[in-house]
Amino acid sequence: MSWSARPRGALRTLAQALLALVLVLLAGWLGFSASMQRGTESLRQEANHQLELFGAAAEGIIKRLEHAPATVQLNQDVLALLRQPQSAARVDSANLYLRRLNAHLGSLSVFVLNERGTVLASSDATMAGEDQAFRPYFLEALSGRVGRHFAIDTRNQQPGYYVSHPIHDGARVAGVAAIKISLEAINEAWPSLGSPALLADSNQVVILSSEPGWRYTALAELSVDQRVDLQLSRLYGEQRLPRFPLKVDLRIDENSQVVEGLVPHGLDAEAAMPLPAGRGLLVQGRTLNGMDWRLLMFSELQPVRREAVMHSLLAALAAGTLLLLALITLQRRRLVRQKLQAQRWLQQANTELEHTVQRRTSALTEANLRLKREVAERQQAETTLRQAQDELVHAGKMAALGQLATGITHELTQPLGAIRTLSGNALEFMKRGKLDTVQSNLQILTRLADQMGGIIEPLKGFARKSKAQPVDCDVAVAINNALFLYDQRLRNEGVQLHKDCTPGAVHAWCDPNRLEQVLINLIGNALDAMREAGVAQRQLWVSACNEAPDRVLIEVRDSGAGLAEDVRARLFEPFFTTKDAGVGLGLGLAISRDIVREAGGELEADNHPEGGACFKLRLPTAPDSATGAESP
Ligand code: ADP
Repeated sequence: MSWSARPRGALRTLAQALLALVLVLLAGWLGFSASMQRGTESLRQEANHQLELFGAAAEGIIKRLEHAPATVQLNQDVLALLRQPQSAARVDSANLYLRRLNAHLGSLSVFVLNERGTVLASSDATMAGEDQAFRPYFLEALSGRVGRHFAIDTRNQQPGYYVSHPIHDGARVAGVAAIKISLEAINEAWPSLGSPALLADSNQVVILSSEPGWRYTALAELSVDQRVDLQLSRLYGEQRLPRFPLKVDLRIDENSQVVEGLVPHGLDAEAAMPLPAGRGLLVQGRTLNGMDWRLLMFSELQPVRREAVMHSLLAALAAGTLLLLALITLQRRRLVRQKLQAQRWLQQANTELEHTVQRRTSALTEANLRLKREVAERQQAETTLRQAQDELVHAGKMAALGQLATGITHELTQPLGAIRTLSGNALEFMKRGKLDTVQSNLQILTRLADQMGGIIEPLKGFARKSKAQPVDCDVAVAINNALFLYDQRLRNEGVQLHKDCTPGAVHAWCDPNRLEQVLINLIGNALDAMREAGVAQRQLWVSACNEAPDRVLIEVRDSGAGLAEDVRARLFEPFFTTKDAGVGLGLGLAISRDIVREAGGELEADNHPEGGACFKLRLPTAPDSATGAESP
């Protein structure tokens, strides 16, 4: 992984986490707003329904008795009273009629006013003589129209709904009939709505409300003119009419409006409805049929909001779960992809490995074949070398034989002459009949023949070309055979021989022929060295002993000039010689060492402290002679 890959991966993870968070929040927000919308809508519908029912009921209560004043003018007693107001009898009969009517209708009061606004007759006797000229309902009726409005009784502060009707006497308006209707039934019905509500009159003043604090507050700001008019008409008695605590759009209808918190307008704090800030209310309004009165209902949005919060949480949770599932699915897919990729890589690596193994195997097979060929070639070379060695050994023998020939001829000349003389003498003595002498001569002849046989006996096996065949070899015999070849030379060159070997005492495990060849070579070299050095006192030491239970030591030492350092370093190299061309080939010591090593021994050369060279030849002791060898 590169150094920049890690931060890039971390950034991507961070971005993904942020995106997931944003999605979860978005889902929560969508859930919230959808739920709010739906909840508000259903709340609106439900409240509308309730408002409709309540409005109809309120209208029934208010309008039920609206027609009553119109019927009053039909009463003759009333008309008679208006024509003769001073008549006590007419007042009584009109009062009686109005009391009965009031009782029948169940209204607060029914009364009749003259054209100056003074109460002439009433269901309530205490009202008699009261001046109602300042009331709008009176003025309306006086001008020939039906007057209707809410007002508080100036005497007993009792609120009520006043409806008036002109009383015609012929063409002129002779007086006014009025009825005061109680609205207490509406006030008592508020709890059925289950939410705060109010009823405002045409002045936008709250005349009835489920919340006592809202009563006699103005929904809209009252102008100075309006306030002066209200002061004059004293519709609301002594009430100061502060501003309604919530800011409400007065055109509100079934489409509703949401109002948040309290809007005290700096007016009467007691009028404020105890609503915690931010709770929110859904306001819906309805105008009562044929009137300017407004019915407003305030539904709490808190449950809707609470439900919306729940839905928002659920939506966020669902979105989170979905995202998690998506993440798990993606992760699983990525894992599967990685696994497949790893498998592909593994397979590729495996194939490459197989190819490599195949390549190496074929290379190894080739190397093996080459090695086998080389081994075969080496074996062939060894065989050739061995043959060459054998040839050389034989050649060496033949060369020695040449030297030997002169000596043997000399050795045999004497006995041959003696044989000739003795056999001639024997013939003569036989003729003379001296058989004893003949017998003695023949005995001498036999001895001489044996002597000659003894001279040529070692030559028999010597000339033979043979393969190395290790056997129990008497070292003394081999030394004697070798020395025999140089017998003539030793004497001619005046060499003093020191031989230290007892026949049968030292037995080596080797080929006797080869051992003899080595000894011939070593003795020949010693004689050459002494001759070349021109030493006056020529001495040759040849000895054999059992150096160890399993090793035999043969030493050939001369009194020559010894081995120069450079000669000693290259002594056993093939074709190394210090002798003249044609005299030495430089193969003697090389072949000798090979022969000794082949027999499991070792050949070493050194200078003797007293001068001259000393060759040490070590060979394994013959197995069955080991005991004898230990005690020579
Ligand atoms: P060659 O006798 O044909 O030279 P060798 O391998 O027998 O081959 O001997 C190699 C050389 O080792 C001789 O040429 C000679 O210089 C040296 N050498 C061998 N034996 C002796 C010895 N006893 N004293 C001194 N030099 C020797």
